[in-house]
Amino acid sequence: MFKKVLIANRSEIACRIIRACRELGIKTVAVYSEVDEKALHVQLADEAILIGSAPANESYLNQDAIIKAAKDSGCDAIHPGYGFLSEKWEFNERVRNEGLVFIGSEPEPMKLLGSKVQSRITMIEADVPVVPGMKSASTDIEDFKKMAAEIGYPVLIKASDGGGGKGMRVVYEEAELASSVEAAIRESKSAFSSDVVFLEKYIESPRHIEFQIAADNFGNALHLFERECSIQRRHQKIIEESPSTALDDKLRKKMGETAVNVIKAAGYTNVGTVEFLLDDKKNYYFLEVNTRIQVEHPVTEMVTGIDLLKLQIRIAAGEKIPFTQDDLLQRGHSIECRIYAEDADSNFMPSSGKIHLLREPKGNGVRYDSGIYEGTDISIYYDPILAKLITWGADREEAIIRMINALKENVILGVKTSNRFMQNVLEHRDFKDGKTYTNFIDSHKEELFKNDDDELELAKCAAALFEKHKPRKITFGGNEESTSNPWAEVGAWEIAQKKEVR
Ligand code: ADP
Repeated sequence: MFKKVLIANRSEIACRIIRACRELGIKTVAVYSEVDEKALHVQLADEAILIGSAPANESYLNQDAIIKAAKDSGCDAIHPGYGFLSEKWEFNERVRNEGLVFIGSEPEPMKLLGSKVQSRITMIEADVPVVPGMKSASTDIEDFKKMAAEIGYPVLIKASDGGGGKGMRVVYEEAELASSVEAAIRESKSAFSSDVVFLEKYIESPRHIEFQIAADNFGNALHLFERECSIQRRHQKIIEESPSTALDDKLRKKMGETAVNVIKAAGYTNVGTVEFLLDDKKNYYFLEVNTRIQVEHPVTEMVTGIDLLKLQIRIAAGEKIPFTQDDLLQRGHSIECRIYAEDADSNFMPSSGKIHLLREPKGNGVRYDSGIYEGTDISIYYDPILAKLITWGADREEAIIRMINALKENVILGVKTSNRFMQNVLEHRDFKDGKTYTNFIDSHKEELFKNDDDELELAKCAAALFEKHKPRKITFGGNEESTSNPWAEVGAWEIAQKKEVR
């Protein structure tokens, strides 16, 4: 097993990795940018090394600085987390060339699966169902027109090297096609430094169903069942659950076997995720493989009882998967809500500021994977995820009730969060009925974006702040010994909030 691991990431996932390392008796080294000097992951790790200034290019994406930090601190492995360098096969290769272990797959399958076009070709050869569409990339608009006519509109133009829901355009008629392809190429060039785009059928209101997989270096490959991640904004997941209400045991088994075939076809090892779309006739189509730990991995951990982070580290250290497919069971139901610093009512615009007050939810079946504490500054530089709230219940209904109660208990004051919006989703009749499709948010706008109790929220926050700062000791004569003033600390935040709700 490794002695010391460098975590090339930040926020909640860095904290999650540090805790998994601790359980395995591994020392940890955090890296951080200038604005993250006081971040939670820096405080939790055994050592912390400054690697650059705030922009990610100069710190968390700075390969030279990260590798140097790992070597200087005597690490034997690097864990990339998710995002940042986690799916960069070039970084993976460099880490290995420097004599360190990259906690993840080999670079070759990562390179193959990093390209949506290349992985489609590989999956077609392996008889895996893919979304109908182009089998290779093209820059000739005639190829796009021909394929769109063949499969029928609407179609989706996608960036082959895209990710995070970016670089996609839905096209409803031929007249829009040429300009959409040009725009997609431009977008892909600027966001992913690649002009490779392709076209596939746009599946209307599908479900996003993905399978957690694991494979070791001894030829063992298995899946840890599905997660449904259909509640998305801008093609990005915000609520995930396991199991999915859309699968019965037969379909689950079939899709699970397909997922294992996918990773075998790509020669992939370590933990990963095979993503599918499921249409209204229960046809499923391969989308892509995420070659890293996934944000939503906790819901799988809650229903299978398997610690995916420790499994990932163990496989990278050369150990065998210590269980078989037949040992695995889905027990109960788990839901995750991603708590972002963002304003749902302003098109989910990121919010920044200081967290003045934090009340973490607690209780039976409640897990809070967080990267924040009271006093944390949320900067504009990175993905605005603050925490992930995960509940487990004996069944879906119990998991939902626990989630609604936990969201109500979750108080984060100082930045806007998606907390209230999440409650609206969880309380929606269609969510409760399991009618969860990727267009859920768009098709329920009126009910979801009702924030009529903003005033009440604000009053609650003010009361909580007062409670926290009110004078604690009263002297004999009734005089206050301490007279702290909560409003001095709240400062500009309080004024901004009041302006908005009026
Ligand atoms: P990314 O790599 O950017 O995450 P994906 O291919 O994984 O892109 O797709 C992300 C989301 O975009 C899916 O979960 C789904 O909501 C939507 N999507 C992708 N492809 C299609 C498609 N062919 N039809 C309908 N929706 C799609």
